[in-house]
Amino acid sequence: MLQTNAMGAGAKVLVVEDEEPLALLLRYNLEAEGYAVDVVHRGDEAEVAIAENSPDLIVLDWMLPGLSGLELCRRLRTGKDSRTIPIILLTARSEENDRIRGLTTGADDYVVKPFSLPELMARVRAILRRTNPERIASVLTVGDIELDRESHRVTRNGRQVHLGPTEFRLLEFLMQSPGRVFSRAQLLDGVWGRNVYVDERTVDVHIGRLRKAMMRGNERDPVRTVRGAGYAFSDKLEETA
Ligand code: CA
Repeated sequence: MLQTNAMGAGAKVLVVEDEEPLALLLRYNLEAEGYAVDVVHRGDEAEVAIAENSPDLIVLDWMLPGLSGLELCRRLRTGKDSRTIPIILLTARSEENDRIRGLTTGADDYVVKPFSLPELMARVRAILRRTNPERIASVLTVGDIELDRESHRVTRNGRQVHLGPTEFRLLEFLMQSPGRVFSRAQLLDGVWGRNVYVDERTVDVHIGRLRKAMMRGNERDPVRTVRGAGYAFSDKLEETA
């Protein structure tokens, strides 16, 4: 989970799939691309998970216990907050004739089982690039700091900054939403992943390392500590002394 190529860079993907081995495989591969992945096995559980976590994309199986993928898709498209969440529908070959129905119900794309994982990953990337470009842009720039997701290089004022893998992910996560305050729990979820147990103080340790690596001379601290709340990436870097 910590070794990512960071393409997904924190975009939240919900997998709704009742076949356990397939659900695991999807989780593993999506996490390897840097997405924050949640998995549920029932259609009705998915409704709850979506309301709680508002994913950036849903990989949705058609045949599910509780509530079918098709019905769930239809409901999501009528919901105020869920209307725009992209959906990739997974269908079995026998259901292929119903594809059109799936698309008119509001899925953005569909993949027929058994599918190739690289193909599914490519579609996930393509949809997120279209709907959520800031999450997938290869270079993030805030003030004098530039982070290149593909080469894993970070520069400040043109000087290369060397970061450990966790500090890199942390910086990337914060730079996606300059000015926004994240609690330690949110940073753990977004950077370390939902299913990893890490003490919240670990966040402070890595923020400390990140600051140390990023600052030279009188450069501004890129991370703002918000007492009682957490941390934010400074959106005032433009005013660097
Ligand atoms: Ca199924």
